[in-house]
Amino acid sequence: MTAPQTRSELAAARRLVIKVGSSCLTDTAGHLAPDRLGALVNGLAGRLAAGREVVLVSSGAQAAGMGPLGLPTWPRTLAEAQAAASVGQGLLMAEYTRAFGSHGRTVGQVLLTSRDIVRRSTYGNAERALVTLLERGVVPVINENDAVATDEIRFGDNDRLAAFVAHLVRADGLVLLTDVDGLRTAPPTRPGSVRIAEVVDSEDLEGISVSARGSAVGTGGMATKVHAAGLATSSGIPVLLTSVNRLAEALDPSIGEEEAAQHGTFFHVTGERLTGKRMWLGYAAAPRGRLLVDPGAAEAVTSGKRSLLPVGVVGVEGEFTPGDVVEVVDPTGMIVARGITGYSSADLAKVKGLSLAAIQDRLGPRQALEAIHRDELTPHARSRRPKPHDGSR
Ligand code: GLU
Repeated sequence: MTAPQTRSELAAARRLVIKVGSSCLTDTAGHLAPDRLGALVNGLAGRLAAGREVVLVSSGAQAAGMGPLGLPTWPRTLAEAQAAASVGQGLLMAEYTRAFGSHGRTVGQVLLTSRDIVRRSTYGNAERALVTLLERGVVPVINENDAVATDEIRFGDNDRLAAFVAHLVRADGLVLLTDVDGLRTAPPTRPGSVRIAEVVDSEDLEGISVSARGSAVGTGGMATKVHAAGLATSSGIPVLLTSVNRLAEALDPSIGEEEAAQHGTFFHVTGERLTGKRMWLGYAAAPRGRLLVDPGAAEAVTSGKRSLLPVGVVGVEGEFTPGDVVEVVDPTGMIVARGITGYSSADLAKVKGLSLAAIQDRLGPRQALEAIHRDELTPHARSRRPKPHDGSR
C-alpha cells in the first residue's frame, strides 16, 4: 500500500494517529476545558462512525493539573510536573471517557515512557497492546507517563511520542493538531510570514525559522512538530499539521483538494515505511557510542544497501560491546545512520581504517567482520533542520 499523497487521501485512510496539544484542551488558568475537549471528540466522531480508526495522542495532563494543584505557572520542577500530571491525567481520561462514550465508543488509556520503546522486547509489547485495542474498536488515548517519567526516560515532547506511536500502530498518517494553522516561513507577527502548504523534502524547510517555544502551557513549539514530522515522513508516514479548529475539514475526505490545501501544512513521505526493527534501531534505541566515518563510507551507508566496513571508520567514541546500537556520523558531524555493531569499541579502535583482508592477516578470520552489517543498519534521511528562533508563536 502506498502512503497517502494528498490531504484527502490522508483523510480517507483507515488508521490515523491524531495528536493534540495541551493548549487545545485546557484554559489559561490550568483547568481542563471540557467544551474544547468535547469539540475535538465531536470532530473525530464522524470518522469513527465511518469505520475508520483513531489513535489519540493527547497532551494536557500537566496543564489540567495546574489549576487543581494551585500552580500558577507551567510546572518548573520534575516533582511538580509529576504531581500535576498525576492529577490532570485522571481528569483528562474521565472527560475523554465521557465524551467518546456519548458517541458509543470506549477509550483505553496507554501511558508510555521512552523506556517502553528503547528496548526491542518492550517495543513489540507496546505495539501488540495498541493494535489489540484497535482491533476491539477501542480508541486508544496515549500520553507520556509523566507521573513517573524522569529525564532519562522521557520522550520529552508528545510530538515525538506521536511519531513513534504512528509507527508502532502502522498508521496511514499522522495529524498534529495545534492552535495555529500550519508551519509558516517566520513567526506570524513578522511581516511577510506566509504559511507553507506542502513540504516535499528538506529543501522546503531551508531558511525557515521556527519557534522552539509553544504557548504558556505545554512543551512543544513548532520546532518539535517539524522534528516529529521529519521522523514520521522519513519512516514512510505522511503528516498533516493543522489547527484543531480545522479538524472536521481536515478529516473530511470529500472536501476538494484545492479547498483542503488552504489550510495546514502537508508533509510528504521522504522515505520508505520501516519495519519495527528498523524504526527501533534507527530512532528509538538508545545508542551507546558513535562511529565516525569517511565520506565514502557515509555515502555507502546512506544508500541503505551496503554494510559499514572497518576500512571506512576513522574514529570511535564511547564504550560499547558487540550487539550494542551505535550512531554513524559523517565528516560534517551529521548522524547518517544507526546500527548494531559487530565489534566492541576497543576492538574497533584497533581495526579501524583496515581492509577485511588486512584484519584477517593480523588478527585472524574471526575478527574480520563488518563494523555494522547492512541488515542491522537504518540509514537516516539526510534532512536539514530549520534553525530555531527565540520568538514566541
Ligand atoms: N505529556 C505532557 C502532558 O500531558 C505533554 C505536555 C505537552 O507537550 O504539552 O502534560
